[in-house]
Amino acid sequence: MGTYENVELYELTVSEASALIARREVSPLDVTKAVLRRIEAVESKVRAFVTLAPDRAIAMAGSAEKELRTAGRAGSLLGIPLAIKDNLCTRGILTTCASKMLSNFVPPYESTATSRLLESGYVLVGKTNMDEFAMGSSTENSGFHVTRNPWNLDRIPGGSSGGSAAAVAADECLAALGSDTGGSIRQPAALCGVVGMKPTYGRVSRYGLVAFASSLDQIGTLTKCVRDAAMVLNVICGHDPKDSTSVPSVVPDFTRALGDGVKGARIGIPKEYFVEGMDKEVEGAVRGAIGRLEELGARPIEVSLPHTEYAIAAYYILATSEASSNLARYDGVKYGRRSEGRDLMDMYLKTRADGFGPEVKRRIMLGTYALSSGYYEAYYKKAQQVRTLIKNDFERAFTQVDLLVTPTTPTAAFRIGEKTADPLQMYLSDIFTISVNLAGLPALSLPCGFTSDNVPVGLQFIGKHFDEQTILRAAHAYEQSTDWHRRRPAL
Ligand code: GLN
Repeated sequence: MGTYENVELYELTVSEASALIARREVSPLDVTKAVLRRIEAVESKVRAFVTLAPDRAIAMAGSAEKELRTAGRAGSLLGIPLAIKDNLCTRGILTTCASKMLSNFVPPYESTATSRLLESGYVLVGKTNMDEFAMGSSTENSGFHVTRNPWNLDRIPGGSSGGSAAAVAADECLAALGSDTGGSIRQPAALCGVVGMKPTYGRVSRYGLVAFASSLDQIGTLTKCVRDAAMVLNVICGHDPKDSTSVPSVVPDFTRALGDGVKGARIGIPKEYFVEGMDKEVEGAVRGAIGRLEELGARPIEVSLPHTEYAIAAYYILATSEASSNLARYDGVKYGRRSEGRDLMDMYLKTRADGFGPEVKRRIMLGTYALSSGYYEAYYKKAQQVRTLIKNDFERAFTQVDLLVTPTTPTAAFRIGEKTADPLQMYLSDIFTISVNLAGLPALSLPCGFTSDNVPVGLQFIGKHFDEQTILRAAHAYEQSTDWHRRRPAL
């Protein structure tokens, strides 16, 4: 059975599929097989995956069916086919970070986020493509291949979780996990027309997430709708003793507040986020969305985040510094690739020269420089101080408003190859998302329109620390008043 009431099963949302499975109207195997057929039909165009695991998916769906029979009731993700970004360790399954350095790495352990999915009975369909070690905004930095935007195959899907976003947009899975260090969930979600949620830093354990910049990295979701984001977050959030930065607070049921609407909510519109040079169609769609929120009863208030202009500079000092340290472990000895050399030093050098791509090398060099003695105060320490100013900007704004609404990106999806020659241009793709990571706040992107050449535009909601509920509630109210999330790319 591939359809339910004329809807292809791969088109279902997580919440729809979960309800149908619980009522025994469709089976986990039906859904998984439909998704695998969909992958067969479109993956050669989109190329969202590094590794596909169809046989394992069928086996996992089979176990889900058995559990449904024996346990008699379904967990929220029981039998739901999901895709996982290839920087989350999955035991026994290749985990490459889209890097030649890890092209043979099969982790002996499971990340906490995916362990929780396993406990809830999910079905893994495959590991998704990304910018190498999550460094990039277009997935063009993958060491393996480019992923294409399902809305326009000549355009980038965004990055670094571009494979996860494209897989969700192309219905190659019901939802996916990604990671967000400077925008890597929200930016590709915006460009592929799906919902991307980065929870508060500390909400989801980073255990088993291959580290890029540990003080910024956070795992989150890419889904077809806001309700699905809440459902998957319910499973992956929560304290984990294996990650010292994971916060030991109680996680609310994120689906509970979804119906509460935005009436009376004070939404801050940061004036620094409507900048000269921003794409007019993006600006128009975002202003339209703010108008809609107002019709729904929200109260827009202009606010200022005066240190916004320093965010990119501070981020590229801090993220590269942390990366230079985190990536020191790839030395050809412990795991991953090894190139032969004359002696130990030569082996180290050759391994790193052969294993890392150009963007990763650029960042290791930048970070090493920023941390070197004599420069540390001028760069790293300064950037930390700027980070505090940026965090304070948000704290001040949140004394006046309940949440902030901004564009997710300054432009819609650009053409493949358009920005590869100019790293600075590429870095600017994250101008509206990076401050959120520096401040550790939760934020979500969802579709709020399309450009005249029919590629999606994203709207970003930013909330207070650990106040994911207010974001989800407002985003859900907006989403339900539009039909942007129901549009599908013609593949
Ligand atoms: N595009 C940003 C970077 O290249 C963010 C990446 C991310 O969030 N992982 O660092």
